[in-house]
Amino acid sequence: MKFSLGLVLAISLAGLQFLAILIVVSTSFVTSEKAMLQHARDLLAEAGANASAHSNGFLKPAREAAELSKRVIESGIIAEDDTAQLEQFLFQSLQNESQISGLYYGDESGNFVYVMRSDGPAAFRTKIMRRDPTSVRTELIWRGPDFAEVEAVLDPDDRFDPRSRPWYETAKAERTTIWTEPYIFFSSQQPGISVAAPVMRDGEMTGVIGVDIEISTISNFLSQLAISDRGSALILNDNGDVIAHPDMTQIIVPDGDANLSFVSIQEIDDPVAKAAFTRLANDGVVSIERETQTEFAYQGDRYVSLLKPLLGMDLPWTIAVYAPESDFTQDIKDNRTRNIWLAAIISFAAALAGLALAELILRPVRAFAVRTALVSQGEVPAAEPLPETYKELEKANETLIDQIAQRREADAKILELNRDLSHFSRVNLMGQMATGLAHELSQPLTAISQNVDAAISTASQQKDTNKDLLDILSELDDQAHLGGDILRALRGFVRKDQGEAAPFDVNELLAQTERLLHHEASTHGIALRFDVPPLPMVTGNRIQIAQVLINLIRNAMEAITEADSPVKEVLVSAKAKPKALEIWVDDSGPGIDPDVTLFKQFETSKKDGMGLGLSICRTIAEANGGRLWFDREHKDRTRFCLSLPV
Ligand code: ADP
Repeated sequence: MKFSLGLVLAISLAGLQFLAILIVVSTSFVTSEKAMLQHARDLLAEAGANASAHSNGFLKPAREAAELSKRVIESGIIAEDDTAQLEQFLFQSLQNESQISGLYYGDESGNFVYVMRSDGPAAFRTKIMRRDPTSVRTELIWRGPDFAEVEAVLDPDDRFDPRSRPWYETAKAERTTIWTEPYIFFSSQQPGISVAAPVMRDGEMTGVIGVDIEISTISNFLSQLAISDRGSALILNDNGDVIAHPDMTQIIVPDGDANLSFVSIQEIDDPVAKAAFTRLANDGVVSIERETQTEFAYQGDRYVSLLKPLLGMDLPWTIAVYAPESDFTQDIKDNRTRNIWLAAIISFAAALAGLALAELILRPVRAFAVRTALVSQGEVPAAEPLPETYKELEKANETLIDQIAQRREADAKILELNRDLSHFSRVNLMGQMATGLAHELSQPLTAISQNVDAAISTASQQKDTNKDLLDILSELDDQAHLGGDILRALRGFVRKDQGEAAPFDVNELLAQTERLLHHEASTHGIALRFDVPPLPMVTGNRIQIAQVLINLIRNAMEAITEADSPVKEVLVSAKAKPKALEIWVDDSGPGIDPDVTLFKQFETSKKDGMGLGLSICRTIAEANGGRLWFDREHKDRTRFCLSLPV
C-alpha cells in the first residue's frame, strides 16, 4: 500500500508528538508517583513528629511539676509535715499548668495532701488526711482561685490510703519518677495519667509526690492536626490500648466490671485505624522501639501509615498516623489524566497542522510534477519559467531540461544517421548498377566504334567516296567515343574517382553537348538553342562538366515535356567574366515545383526520378572549383547557372 507524502508527514508529526508527550507523561508519572508517596510519608512523619512534640510539651510540665515539688520537699524548703504550706505550694503549681488536674503528696505515715480542680462549690478543692496509728481525719476544703476558703467539711468515711495506691507503690519500689498506666478518672470520666516521684531524705523514702494529668487535650489536639483530607493520628499504649484519638468518645469503653477503660486497637470503632494498626500489634503488644512505616489497603484504597514512638518521656506510647495515598496523589493523578488528554488533543492538532503543513510543502512539488509531465509530453516548452518551488527542485528541473534537450539532439542525430544510412545504401546500389551498366555498355560501344572506324576506312577507299556518308560515319564515330568517355567518367565518378583535371575548350564541349542532345530535343518538339560566345579555356574534368550540362538540359526538357508547355524552348548561353565563366540553361517550362527543395538528395517531382541529379551536379561543380545554383531573379524563364573558374 502506498501513502501520500502529506499523510505520511501528518501521521509522523502527530505520532512523534504523541510519543514524546507520552514518554514525558509516563516518566513524570513514575517519578511523580514515587515522589508523591515519599511526600506522603514525609507528611505523615511530620504529623507524627508534631503529635509527639505536642504530647511531650503537654506531659513534660506535669513531670517537671512533680519533680520540682519533690525537690522542694527534699531540700526542706517546705516541711513535709507543714500541711498548710505544702497545700499552698501544690495549689500554686496546679494553677500554673492547665493540663494538671491535681497534685498530691502522700507520706509513709499515710498522711495525704491533695489539691485538685473542682466543679463546685469552688474552682479548687483540697483534701487533707492526717493519720495516726488509730485514726484518720479527712478534711475537704474548697477554695477560689485566690486560695480563699469557700467551704470546708470533714469526711469521716474516707478510708483512702495513699500508700496502697499503685502510683505510690511503684514510685516507692522503683525509687525514681514513674508514670502510671493511663486510666479513666472516675468522676470526670476523662482519660488521664499520673506521674509520681519519690521524696527521699537521708537515703530513706519519706513519701511520694503525684501529679494527675487529663490527657483528653491530646485527643483534642490530634483532632485538630491537619494530616490530609482523610488522614488521622492517634496514640497507642504498648498494650494496644488507644490513649488518644481525634474522636475521644471512641476510646472510653465500659469494661466487664462496670468500670470504664481504654478501647484496644483491635476493638476500636474506627475501621481504618483498626485495619492500619491491628496487624502491627503483635499479640496485643505494639512495638514502640522504632519508627515503622507501612502501606495497607482498605476498601480498595491504598493507605500509608506510620508508628512513631513517643520519645523523651519514658512513656510506652507510640504515635500512630495514617492517610490514604490518594489524599496526596489524587491531584497528581488528575493532573496526569488531564495531561494525557492534553497530549491527545495536541497530537490531533499536530496532525491537522501536519496535514496543512504537508499541503503547503507539497503544493510546489505537485506544481513541479504537473509541469514536468507537461514538458515531457511537449505541451509546455522546457524553457517556460518554472512555477515557484524549492531550490532542490529547481536544480532537478535544470537537469531535466538538459536531459530533454540532449534527448532531442540524440533523436535528431539518429534521424540524420538513418537518412545518411539509407542514402548511402541507395548511392551504393546506384554505384554498383552504374558500374555494371557502364561495363556492359562499353563492349558494344567499342564494337560500334571499331566497326565505324572500319566503315570510314572502307568508305574512304571507294572511288566515288560519298562525302555525306563519311560525315555521318565520322559523327557516329565521335558519338561512340563520347559515349565511351561518358561511361568511363560515370564509372570514375561513382567510384569517387575525381577523374583528371585538365584545361579544355568549353566551346567545343558545348558544341558536342548540342550534338548529343539535338536529336532528343527535336523528338519532343523542343527547340534546343545554343547562344555561346567564344569562351576562354577552363581547367577541370571535362567529362564531369559535360555530365552537369547534359543533366541541366535534360531536366529543362523534361520539365517542358511533362508540363506540355506551349512554348518549348531551351536556351544555353554563356558569358566570360574576369575570373570565371558562367553558363546558363534557361527553359520555357513551368518553373520549380514549390514542394521540391532543389539540390537536396531524393527531392524529386518525377514519378521515376531519383532526386539525385542536381545534388550530384552541385558536388561536381564545387569539386571543379565552380558553383551551381538556381537563379530566382530570372523571372520569365527557369534558369540554372553553372560557373567555372577560368
Ligand atoms: P530528378 O531529375 O531525378 O528528379 P534532379 O535532382 O535532377 O532529380 O531534379 C530534382 C527536381 O528538380 C526535379 O524532380 C524537378 O522537380 C526539379 N527541376 C530540376 N530542373 C528543373 C527545371 N528546369 N524546371 C522545373 N523543375 C526542375
